[in-house]
Amino acid sequence: MQLSDVRAIVTGGVSGLGLAVAQRLVADGGRVALFDVNDDKGAAAVATLGDAHARYFRTDVTDESGVAANVAAARTFLGGLNTAVNCAGILGAGRVLGREGAMKLAQFQSTVMVNLVGSFNVAKAAAEAMQHNDAGEDGERGLIVNTASVAAYEGQIGQAAYSASKGGVVGMTLPMARELARFGIRVNTIAPGIFWTPMVDSMPEEVQASLSASIPFPSRLGRPEEFADLVAYIVGNRYLNGETIRLDGAVRLAPK
Ligand code: NAD
Repeated sequence: MQLSDVRAIVTGGVSGLGLAVAQRLVADGGRVALFDVNDDKGAAAVATLGDAHARYFRTDVTDESGVAANVAAARTFLGGLNTAVNCAGILGAGRVLGREGAMKLAQFQSTVMVNLVGSFNVAKAAAEAMQHNDAGEDGERGLIVNTASVAAYEGQIGQAAYSASKGGVVGMTLPMARELARFGIRVNTIAPGIFWTPMVDSMPEEVQASLSASIPFPSRLGRPEEFADLVAYIVGNRYLNGETIRLDGAVRLAPK
């Protein structure tokens, strides 16, 4: 797919990695629908991206009917829908057995709901719309890109819920790609290492410093533009399908 033809939903698209993806896609001539639950940042993002190219749709990715309705509305605004990039996510950090007792089930559930169930919810609604697209080269009709994390593979202490949710995203990538192949819809996942975004900004400084020091090369946090660059590459390379790609400077997270 040409980047200028991209008509994309980007969840979590008003902040961090999702916003960088939206900026990159618009810069390359595409149009984006930002699905998020942060109205202020949504308005700010559209002001920067331009309202001809971007629109904010207040959408909780865990809401099945809300997502379905907004996928339809986004398709109208975009003039079609051929790409969905799932970046909405929450950290949900917490120990299984903390000082105040065992983790509340609600905390585990909400992390899995947003990161895993939310990604599935958007992917299936987007695929339902994309199946009707005219077929492009090789019969291509669409692309879904999910965001996992290296914590899917080496989650740290305090990441049981987060790692479970991201492991689920990695796990559904291949079966979804296999199933949607008959419609010409590709499914790929990016597993980022540690990137400079508001999610990391909220961590204590000493945690940020030790995170940077743990990255072999380049020994710094990833830049959101580098994530967006990989999304753009996936858009353009039709042979990339059913894969989870680590983007992490060779980092392997320590237990804590
Ligand atoms: P961020 O906090 O800047 O952005 C996440 C966005 O998701 C926010 O705008 C938030 O409002 C939105 N969101 C949260 N819950 C939502 C919901 N229920 N419905 C719709 N939107 C919702 O974080 P980020 O660092 O840009 O993270 C983006 C993705 O990348 C997340 O899935 C995160 O787990 C993943 N990730 C980030 C890093 C990192 O180092 N920053 C590393 C690995 C994976």
